[in-house]
Amino acid sequence: MLQGQTAVVTGASRGIGRAIALELAKNGANIIVNYSGSEAKAEEVVGEIQDLGVKAVKIQANVADEESVKQLMKQAIKEFGSIDILVNNAGITKDNLLMRMKEDEFDQVIQTNLKGTFLCTKAVSRQMMKQKAGRIINVASIVGVSGNPGQANYVAAKAGVIGLTKTTAKELASRNILVNAVAPGFISTDMTDQLSEEQQESLLQLVPLERLGKPEDVARVVRFLASEDANYITGQTIHIDGGMVM
Ligand code: NAD
Repeated sequence: MLQGQTAVVTGASRGIGRAIALELAKNGANIIVNYSGSEAKAEEVVGEIQDLGVKAVKIQANVADEESVKQLMKQAIKEFGSIDILVNNAGITKDNLLMRMKEDEFDQVIQTNLKGTFLCTKAVSRQMMKQKAGRIINVASIVGVSGNPGQANYVAAKAGVIGLTKTTAKELASRNILVNAVAPGFISTDMTDQLSEEQQESLLQLVPLERLGKPEDVARVVRFLASEDANYITGQTIHIDGGMVM
C-alpha cells in the first residue's frame, strides 16, 4: 500500500509513535524513527521495522528546536531521497490545575506539542512541495475538542494542533499535500499509565465502547490517512476515542 514511500514519525521510540511506525512499515514504507529520549529503545524499533523487510533509520531530534528539526528532515532526505509522509506524534503532558500551573509547565507543553508540529510541518513542506505530493498527519487529542480539567496547557496545544491542521490543509492543498489529524481518546501507553487506577476507572465510564484504546487502534487510522484510499480527505480531525466525544 505504501511501497517505496518514506515516512518520518516523530517520537517513534515507544507508545503510539512506535505503533504508527510499525503499521506504516508493515504496509511497505521506509521509516525514519525520530526520538528524543532513549537511543536503545529507538534502536529496538528500528530492528523491529527492519525485520518486516523495509528500511529504517533512527534520528535524534528535539521537535521543539528549529535547527534540530531542519537537521532531522535534511538527514531523512539524504537517507531515502524523499519524505512522503510526516506523522507529528511527539508529545508531552505536564498536568496541573490552572491556579497551580507554572508558566514553565505551560510553555514546555506548548513548545513540544504545538510548536513542534508547526516546525516539522514547515520543514517538511518545502520538500513535499518539490515532490508535488505529501501526507501530513498530526496526532492531536480528543481533549483538544472537549477540554479537560487539569490540562490547560495540553488542551490549548492540542486545540492549536487541530487549528494548525485546518490552516495548513488549506495552504498546501494546491500542492497536493494533504493534512489531517487524529484525536485519540484514552490510549493505553506510558502516558496514561501515569494515571492512578481510580482515575483510569472513572475515565472508562466515559467511554461507550467500555475499554481503553490500543496504540494500534490509532496506527491503523494513520495508515489509512497516509494511503491512496484517503486521497479526497484533508483538513479533518478523526476521533479515535471509543465514542467518548460525538
Ligand atoms: P509517550 O509518552 O509514550 O510517547 C511520546 C513520545 O514523544 C516519546 O517517545 C517521547 O520521547 C517523544 N517526545 C517527547 N518530547 C519530544 C521532543 N521534544 N522531540 C522529539 N520527541 C519527543 O506518549 P503516547 O501516549 O505514545 O503519545 C503519543 C502522542 O499521542 C502524543 O502527541 C500524545 O499527546 C498523543 N495522545 C496520547 C493519548 C493517550 O491516551 N496515550 C491520547 C491522546 C493523544
